[in-house]
Amino acid sequence: SYSKSEMLFGKAKHVIPGGVNSPVRAFKSVGGTPVFMQHAKGPFMYDVDGNRYIDYINSWGPMIMGHAYEPVVKAIQEYAAFSTSFGAPTELEIKIAELIVGMVPNIDMVRMVNSGTEACMTAIRLARGYTGRNKFIKFEGCYHGHADAFLVSAGSGVATLGIQSVPGVTATVADDTLTAPYNNLPAVEQLIADNPDQIAAIIVEPVAGNMGCILPQPGFLEGLRQLCDANGILLIFDEVMTGFRLARGGAQELFGIRADLVTFGKIIGAGMPVGAVAGPKSIMENLAPAGKVYQAGTLSGNPIAMIAGYTLLQTLNDNPVIYEQLREKAEYLVNGLREAFGASGVVYQINNLGSMLSVHFTEYPIIDFAGASAANNELFKRFFHAMLERGVYLPPSAFESWFMSQALTTEELDATIAAAK
Ligand code: PLP
Repeated sequence: SYSKSEMLFGKAKHVIPGGVNSPVRAFKSVGGTPVFMQHAKGPFMYDVDGNRYIDYINSWGPMIMGHAYEPVVKAIQEYAAFSTSFGAPTELEIKIAELIVGMVPNIDMVRMVNSGTEACMTAIRLARGYTGRNKFIKFEGCYHGHADAFLVSAGSGVATLGIQSVPGVTATVADDTLTAPYNNLPAVEQLIADNPDQIAAIIVEPVAGNMGCILPQPGFLEGLRQLCDANGILLIFDEVMTGFRLARGGAQELFGIRADLVTFGKIIGAGMPVGAVAGPKSIMENLAPAGKVYQAGTLSGNPIAMIAGYTLLQTLNDNPVIYEQLREKAEYLVNGLREAFGASGVVYQINNLGSMLSVHFTEYPIIDFAGASAANNELFKRFFHAMLERGVYLPPSAFESWFMSQALTTEELDATIAAAK
């Protein structure tokens, strides 16, 4: 076993936290072997032993321009002297809100919060306050953060949490959360029929990133929109993963479908803890302090987080070519990976949209997602460790989406493809 200082200051490579009485219980890892990172720059992370990794975890999503992106680093340094936030706001909050309203379709107002989870909780609370109804529908395998209401036993974040979904079953569970299988409109229709005038909102990942970049089938998002309109239900797009990533305006822009509320996280904070919920004035004005739906956070709107997010979003807003370049990089990698895996029969399929991709090791019908996850995880674990040894850092669970960063060059993409062979 390792001493605490060895763990923290870097003598050990693959440290098992349980074996060292670590006071930290927060490591996300495959097979209990986290690699401790020391610093990161551009497309690379460096561990405490000086090993370099090509990074596809992107610190789980925010670092779309690569690590330590110079304009963001400078902005954070400049604003580090500020220390005010909620209750004594700065104009920075208005600046970032104005920028977001200019980038994202169908919204007039933004509420800044501290995480994607908080954004999704706030959206649900707001939908309940606005409609006067209590229940909401989410989809099996879609992840909306770590709030109780989203962690229902009938299938939430199966990939991330290891909670078994009940195949093909829709159920009424904790906190009035109703669940339906992704891409299954008739199941949603049935839930609405079974719960007349009780459903406040449907929350959905417009691309199911937490199931491994599963695309909405043609007509699915349109169908949800129609069902919501016909039944007085709010449609919430959880764009924590897809927002500012698939397009400047996220999935609403990409698919041309209007949501009533949109939630953001990840990219919106450039690595700082930031989330946001956004929508039209008619709904958003129901939030406190002027409206009746309470929401507040001590650190929401804090200037360091706001300037970091603002600086990154400004880069994306001013340079739409970045989206084209990221898509090309992803396509290059996906083609290379397909070739690398070739006829080995190991990989079932590689999903890709824009700068997100996911490697699936086993076939599964969408409603039997849980059944497939164990086999997928076993194969993925071996793949993850082999890639780690070869200097490529992947998101540490099967079914997670890989994120491309603008800092990746052909050299790193080629090295990744070679490592996969
Ligand atoms: N929603 C989606 C789609 C996510 O991918 C995540 C995080 O992975 C969340 C919500 C939760 O965001 P956070 O981890 O910032 O609380």
